Amino acid sequence: MTQNEAINTRILLAARPIGYPKISDFEIDKTLIPTPGPGELLVRTLYLSLDPYMRHRMADARSYAPPAPLGEVMIGAIVGEVVASHNPDWRVGEFVEGRLGWQQYAISDGTGMARVDPSVAPISTALGVLGMPGLTAYFGLLEIGRPVPGETVLVSAASGAVGAAVGQIARITGCRVVGIAGGTRKVAYITGDLGFDAGIDYKAEDDLGAEIAAACPEGIDVYFDNVGGTITDATLDYLARGARIVICGTISQSSLAAPELGPRIQGKLMTAWASMQAFNVFQFTARHEIARARLAGWLGDGRLKYREDVVDGIENAPGAFIGLLRGENFGKRIVKVAESTANRATA
Ligand code: NDP
Repeated sequence: MTQNEAINTRILLAARPIGYPKISDFEIDKTLIPTPGPGELLVRTLYLSLDPYMRHRMADARSYAPPAPLGEVMIGAIVGEVVASHNPDWRVGEFVEGRLGWQQYAISDGTGMARVDPSVAPISTALGVLGMPGLTAYFGLLEIGRPVPGETVLVSAASGAVGAAVGQIARITGCRVVGIAGGTRKVAYITGDLGFDAGIDYKAEDDLGAEIAAACPEGIDVYFDNVGGTITDATLDYLARGARIVICGTISQSSLAAPELGPRIQGKLMTAWASMQAFNVFQFTARHEIARARLAGWLGDGRLKYREDVVDGIENAPGAFIGLLRGENFGKRIVKVAESTANRATA
């Protein structure tokens, strides 16, 4: 083992952000690689997932999960490989996914970890299209949105990890799909590579409502809301009768000191006899494996595509996360932390 490999670089939560997180809200910490005890294993991180929910967990605010502790390793999911094991259930060389945080090496007793099969798809997809974001798209759209063939599905943050999968699953379901994304490249991607029926660049539009009206002439049957705020406001006048709004995320509000006030939503829902329902991907944990198998099938037959936005090096995770909150990512943002020592398919 070289001197470099003996060091475990970890990113700690140094301060609770005010507004958009800053680099100084994180601390890069170097410590020795820990040694697993009885029943434990040592996991070497290969990929770290960066996700919008982390912004909520950095705050000390009421949430469905406790805040990330100050001074501790930042929370997050990784894909890694087992490099030492004193646990008979886990073998050295296995690829795993688990919530082991922003660090190069972590000790685990195996709780909450899942095996990742590299023969199904590149292992990084366990953090994206075959992982939490893909499952969010699957359950949010199919269970909460309940799309019917022929209906119009509108999705925001449409080129991102969740949004891209939502649009494609809606297409597989037989719906007409319109995506809202920031910038011409993202819109070209969803309408070109992913086959969305229409795309709207909200950053280029002065009158987003008019663009939505033009792209959804029959109205919106399902609005899959990844962002909240003014984009959501702009959709509300174009709901078709019986529309379903899936509240998936509110990234546009997560770094604001106080949430923006929208229009009186109740009136808009009444007009369209519409409903609005929030959900969490972990409501459906018992059915994750069934969904993952369907997603993998669509991936295998080419009906589901994905895009990854890979940043190199764990030291760059804080900046990459701040960029994600500002829309600088184009696809599922992950950090490549290391190559597999087994030198297997990890790309
Ligand atoms: P993405 O890969 O879509 O990345 C985030 C994107 O959000 C950015 O690329 C940007 O896209 C968009 N964005 C950022 N700031 C704003 C803003 N101010 N206004 C509008 N759009 C903005 O992330 P994910 O796919 O991982 O997550 C998408 C949403 O789903 C998030 O809100 C997240 O919290 C939520 N989520 C919810 C889950 C649940 O269980 N309910 C589980 C997982 C995710 P653009 O450039 O197009 O604006």
